Amino acid sequence: MKSINKLLVANRSEIAIRICRSAHELGIRTVAMYSFEDRFALHRFKADEAYQIGTQGEPVRAYLDIDSVIRICREHKIDAVHPGYGFMSENPDLARACEENGIIFVGPSVDCLERLGDKTAARAIAEQAGVPVLSGSQKAIASAEEGRTLAEKLGFPIILKAAKGGGGRGMRVVREAKEFDASFESATRESQSAFGSPDIFIEKYIEQARHIEVQLMGDAHGNLVHLYERDCSVQRRHQKVVEIAPAPNLLPEVRAALCEAAIKIGKQVGYQNAGTVEFLVDKQTNQYYFIEVNPRIQVEHTVTEEVTGVDVVKTQILVAQGEPLSHPDIDLADQSKIQTVGFALQCRVTTEDPANGFLPDYGRVSHYRSASGMGIRLDAGSAFSGAVVHPYYDSMLVKVSARGRKFTAAVKRMERALQEFRVRGVKTNIPFLIRVMSNKTFLDGDCTTRFIDETPDLFK
Ligand code: ADP
Repeated sequence: MKSINKLLVANRSEIAIRICRSAHELGIRTVAMYSFEDRFALHRFKADEAYQIGTQGEPVRAYLDIDSVIRICREHKIDAVHPGYGFMSENPDLARACEENGIIFVGPSVDCLERLGDKTAARAIAEQAGVPVLSGSQKAIASAEEGRTLAEKLGFPIILKAAKGGGGRGMRVVREAKEFDASFESATRESQSAFGSPDIFIEKYIEQARHIEVQLMGDAHGNLVHLYERDCSVQRRHQKVVEIAPAPNLLPEVRAALCEAAIKIGKQVGYQNAGTVEFLVDKQTNQYYFIEVNPRIQVEHTVTEEVTGVDVVKTQILVAQGEPLSHPDIDLADQSKIQTVGFALQCRVTTEDPANGFLPDYGRVSHYRSASGMGIRLDAGSAFSGAVVHPYYDSMLVKVSARGRKFTAAVKRMERALQEFRVRGVKTNIPFLIRVMSNKTFLDGDCTTRFIDETPDLFK
């Protein structure tokens, strides 16, 4: 057990601020890092101390620089690093460098990050744990020819996926043999440039799928619990747009099976800290399949917090210190006492223009008025009048969460909150999100991952 006195957040924007909030509540001194381009960003000023990494012209590299993270920790007596999501969060090299320097890494072990970092390896772990996976290739495919032969055997449609991938990149749905080679080449190229690995594998594609994922939390003493599920089926280009907890319209036996399967996978690898096991559920058969584990905090952890009352980030920090799940400030020793109340959903408000193919917009936010009121939670980075939206980073402006006793009440509250926003100077996807909130399929809790693509009304 080593208590954390000073925590560096190796990330930026809303998640950096989110982490500082929990650390502050635990009496931990917070440290931010920022690129030159982020020198006016809010996360810099929300921390107790802040240090610039790199110089002008390296806005992304600044958040990928392991040596600088370790140097800052040593120079400023920092005893823990929280990596947030994206950037270095799943990089075993950062976790290892922390370990070697006696710094606590707020996340799973190096071994877990290494084993789960490759999706084909993660599929094998799920199979060993007795959890169903989609039929596909056991490992990366060596050539278009080999892939095409396998795809023909599996039957189209199939999906090509980057083994080291994330964020929906390096993925291609292939519906016919004659499209295979071109899709394989482009997926390989995209994977190489985005993830530094050309490895592509194949899975059978499910046409009518719901994306349901289970939040896990494990301590360093072998205890592991789940915090129920989230429905992240509302997606654009395989990226989540709206997330819901718990999943509306999910059969209780499917929910129980998913939670149990997630625990089995977590146990298989001795999972510690927060992680998410993702599944696809075939809407027609209710059969579920493992797709991947995300060994980090996720963007959508907020909705789980809203319905369980558990501060996931605070728990991550306490568990990283070596506290057991039974610690009074965590109080997650007994799975049967972890309950959800009502529903929560989150919308990712981005500076993307829905009227123009969701093209990211940049520039100065001239006016910003946000929503508030009962059951509304906002997690924002630099969202204020005068803030500058840069082209270098993802386009998330603010995450809006709404809670309600019933799903429809939570949705109505979200729609009301979205209507309250006034953002000028940059385009946002708010008008699009409002249309999602009024859509019958969405209100019925019936969305599959193709909902946005199959609903042209959302764009009118
Ligand atoms: P990433 O790590 O890039 O987010 P995932 O493997 O988590 O990739 O998949 C992201 C999304 O892609 C899923 O939520 C789903 O919408 C779609 N997808 C992935 N695999 C399949 C599949 N086998 N069948 C249907 N859709 C899939």
